[in-house]
Amino acid sequence: MLNLRINTRLDVTEEEIFSELHHFLLRKNNRVLSNDQIVEKTGVPAELIHKWVKTGKLKQTMFPNLGAPCERCGTITSNPKLCRDCTQTITSTLAKEEKDREWFKTIQNNTRRQSTYHYK
Ligand SMILES: [Zn+2]
Repeated sequence: MLNLRINTRLDVTEEEIFSELHHFLLRKNNRVLSNDQIVEKTGVPAELIHKWVKTGKLKQTMFPNLGAPCERCGTITSNPKLCRDCTQTITSTLAKEEKDREWFKTIQNNTRRQSTYHYK
């Protein structure tokens, strides 16, 4: 088990943690670690990993199992900003709204036509 000893050093900077973590992750078998596994193995706080994933310091193309919390539900996701579920929910909600708008337009047109006809 690797010990970065970052929790016992008070003077360590974020930059130092990053370079040690990055070095650790670049080892062949560590590239596929997930957030939880990294926290467990290195003691690096999950928030820092999230931050580095979000800012692109830790590249997801290199570390495919890294993720950051979804901005809607907080699930760890490798998608940018929103997890797959939320993306799907939002996409279908928007599609439904679009349908409702179409429906509303049709209703309005019908009403107008009907009343025009009525007054003839
Ligand atoms: Zn989500």
